[in-house]
Amino acid sequence: MMYGGGAFWHVNLTKPKDSPKLTRALLVRILSFLLPYWRQGLVILVCLAVGSVIGLLPPLMMRGVIDDALPHGDSRLLFLLVAGMIGFPLLGGLINVLQSYFNNYIGQRIMMDLRNYLYQHLTTLSLRFFTNTKTGEIMSRLNNDVGGVQDTVTGALISIVSNLFMLASTLVLIFKMNWQLSVLAIGILPLFILPTRRVGRIRHDIARDTQRRYAELTAFMEETLNISGYLLMKIFTRDSAQLAKFRAKNQEIFDLSMRRSVVGRWFFMMMQTIGSIGPALIYLAGGLLVIRGQLTIGTIVAFVALLSRLYGPAAQLASVHVDFMSALALFNRLFEYMDLQPEIADQPGAATLGDVRGQISFADVSFAYRADIPALRGVSFEVEPGQLAALVGPSGAGKTTITYLVPRFYDPTTGVVRIDGRDLRELTQHSIREAIGVVTQETFLFHASLRDNLLYARDDASDEEMVAACQAANIHDFITALPEGYDTVVGERGYRLSGGEKQRVAIARVILKDPRILVMDEATSSLDSHSEALIQAALQPLLRGRTSIVIAHRLSTILAADVILVVDHGQLVERGTHQELLALGGLYARLYEQQFKPRHRGAPSALPPLGEPVSV
Ligand code: ADP
Repeated sequence: MMYGGGAFWHVNLTKPKDSPKLTRALLVRILSFLLPYWRQGLVILVCLAVGSVIGLLPPLMMRGVIDDALPHGDSRLLFLLVAGMIGFPLLGGLINVLQSYFNNYIGQRIMMDLRNYLYQHLTTLSLRFFTNTKTGEIMSRLNNDVGGVQDTVTGALISIVSNLFMLASTLVLIFKMNWQLSVLAIGILPLFILPTRRVGRIRHDIARDTQRRYAELTAFMEETLNISGYLLMKIFTRDSAQLAKFRAKNQEIFDLSMRRSVVGRWFFMMMQTIGSIGPALIYLAGGLLVIRGQLTIGTIVAFVALLSRLYGPAAQLASVHVDFMSALALFNRLFEYMDLQPEIADQPGAATLGDVRGQISFADVSFAYRADIPALRGVSFEVEPGQLAALVGPSGAGKTTITYLVPRFYDPTTGVVRIDGRDLRELTQHSIREAIGVVTQETFLFHASLRDNLLYARDDASDEEMVAACQAANIHDFITALPEGYDTVVGERGYRLSGGEKQRVAIARVILKDPRILVMDEATSSLDSHSEALIQAALQPLLRGRTSIVIAHRLSTILAADVILVVDHGQLVERGTHQELLALGGLYARLYEQQFKPRHRGAPSALPPLGEPVSV
């Protein structure tokens, strides 16, 4: 990468040049977003057509003044023509206001449609997409790219049409006035068109690259300007390094933008120079014709006045082409997102789960995040309705992956995951997830009141139900002790609550949802014995009467489990109860020695184990 030091003419375009080809398919696709607004488009077309004809009238009136009114001393005609020279531009202006209103309307509506469509589409994508894509990159497409599209629609497209109208109507008129002069005027036109292609290409490449850099910058800001990123930066004292990185990225954008504007300036300067040659030549050739008596003075004056309506549109059409190509790149990027297929999609005619008993089975399930590295291999187990299964194993063994497969965030590569004996792939995702509650280790709370966060589980729940859930989760007293109680707004990530409190809110949220199946990743963080006891007490109503798969980090949970599933390197290596597995003397026995075995009084085992016997 090169930047700084006045090197902005040479900024390297690091990515391969995927210049947009204006294919028929692409055009049709862009037009499909315009089509719903064809009525407004029609109004614009009429406005543009009428406007371009009205624009022709003042030069004609100028000719009338010089050739008719003045030579014949007709002051009435003079007044009339001058009135027209004032009146018609006024009318043209009014029509232009109407045109630009609809123009804006269409542009804004299309942006709204695109944002709606993209947001909706993004929510259908799979977990894998969000684990693999930077948040900032997604934001950039929704904000910058969609915003950029308006230029194409209201800017470039309208400009193309209006300039074409202007060009065509002017051409017809000047040919009717004098064909020799017209041929001469047109002879200069190619000078406008030829440089356009090259400049267009360069500007388009720069625009695309600038957009990409903006996305990177947004992503960088997203990652660094939040609590976790901030803490990381401060703890590792990376402040200055981070700043340097940011400055470098920012500099790249500056360089690219400068380069783009410089390319543009040269281009327009050239256009203007060429533009002034035209009238001079017309005066020369036209003047000779007047001297020979073959042309009236009024015609030359009108002709030169009309020239601006010939070269203006030609120049603009040339530059519009440039902007259009840049905006085309934006559309390409948006379509790229729209074309992402959700990895997990409902089959046509997928069934709903209906009344759920809550039996879960894995039959010879294998799964890989990436083709070459298996995360799960031949995992088979069953959890009967109401049972509690504890997943235990070293870090990276595949426990979280198992919990992802239950709500069908991923499909197994081979094998089948079933709920109540039904393959998840034959069911609607909606009905599966309605039946499942998830408590993750890191509790995510929206930046909203506790009430809003709780009711996210079920917005039709009554206050009594909400309070009951919070009481069951042992968090009600804490909440009511807050100055604003249930209306307390929790920080962007619930940072104002402690880990234990957050998890209890999450537990209350799931109790409110009341699913038949519970998937839980117990918090690993060691809590003080008071918080520990509160969580243990909260877990009882959570687990009661539900089928639960819990990644267990606490002995009390393990002891309460009907079955312990021991996972290692993606395989289920042992299963059984605590006593059975201890007797086996394998991996579980070792893990127990290292992690779970109580070492002093007050450790987890001293707490009452989950008393609720689990029915099978
Ligand atoms: P555990 O929960 O037991 O700690 P995980 O189920 O999270 O283990 O991970 C199992 C394996 O899959 C690990 O080797 C991990 O690196 C890998 N893995 C987890 N998530 C992804 C992902 N999104 N992409 C690629 N590999 C992943």
